[in-house]
Amino acid sequence: MRCVLGRSAARRRSRKPDDLRVTGAVPRLPVLMYHAVGSPMPERLHDLSVPPALLAEQLAALAGDGYRMTGLTEALGSDGPVVALTFDDAYCDFLTAAVPALAAVGATATLYAPSRHVGGTAAWLPAPGDALPLLDEEGLREVVAEGHEVGSHGAEHVPFDVLPAREADAQLAESRDRLEAATGTPMRSFCYPHGYASRRLARRVAAAGYDNACVIGHRLHRTDADRHRVARLMVTPATSPDDLRRLVVEGVPGLAPRAKQVAGPAWRTARRAAGLVGVRWT
Ligand SMILES: [Zn+2]
Repeated sequence: MRCVLGRSAARRRSRKPDDLRVTGAVPRLPVLMYHAVGSPMPERLHDLSVPPALLAEQLAALAGDGYRMTGLTEALGSDGPVVALTFDDAYCDFLTAAVPALAAVGATATLYAPSRHVGGTAAWLPAPGDALPLLDEEGLREVVAEGHEVGSHGAEHVPFDVLPAREADAQLAESRDRLEAATGTPMRSFCYPHGYASRRLARRVAAAGYDNACVIGHRLHRTDADRHRVARLMVTPATSPDDLRRLVVEGVPGLAPRAKQVAGPAWRTARRAAGLVGVRWT
């Protein structure tokens, strides 16, 4: 699929904000997780598409609070008030809708592409989401030219935590090589499709040469935690700019760690069962 960034959008890129009013150490890194920007999602996946105007308001709110916003690899190596921005799946609307909004506040992001789907559609989604177009190689190069990081989202968009180890290793290498060749940049960041990873899987990702990797997590990332299982915070169409300003400070309140521990293996079992019967998960 060919997706073109208009020249007017490119011209709207602005300087990075130089008035950082928030100072001091940041022991926890907020890492935001977006998917589509404006593309219509199936009803039950409504949360996966944030309207472009709302994205612009969210980013402006964080910029107003003095945060610098960068891709994940850069954020993990940064000091000061920084928020990492990640976009999963490499929908065409990243180039046409997200890039202009990011440029308006001097922000960059990491975009995760599943390599076998580059230039295709989000075939893993239920209809009509399975027709949503994904960036092709030229589109990914434009993303890089606009200053953003491209990372790997696997080769196939399947849950890596239930893949046989040999298959996971093969896909880690294949997607790394394909995306590096397509973009001319090193694949330093990996995003687990469907968002879950065991410690053992995280070690395989590190061994494949990736510097960092992200899960869903629903919490702030502790900067002393495993950088191959970086937790993220989901942003939805219901996240107001003020909600987001609180979210990057507090994470998601009210979800006890014990409840999350119980939920993890249960979901893993459910997804493994789903894989056996051919059900697609998002
Ligand atoms: Zn995905």
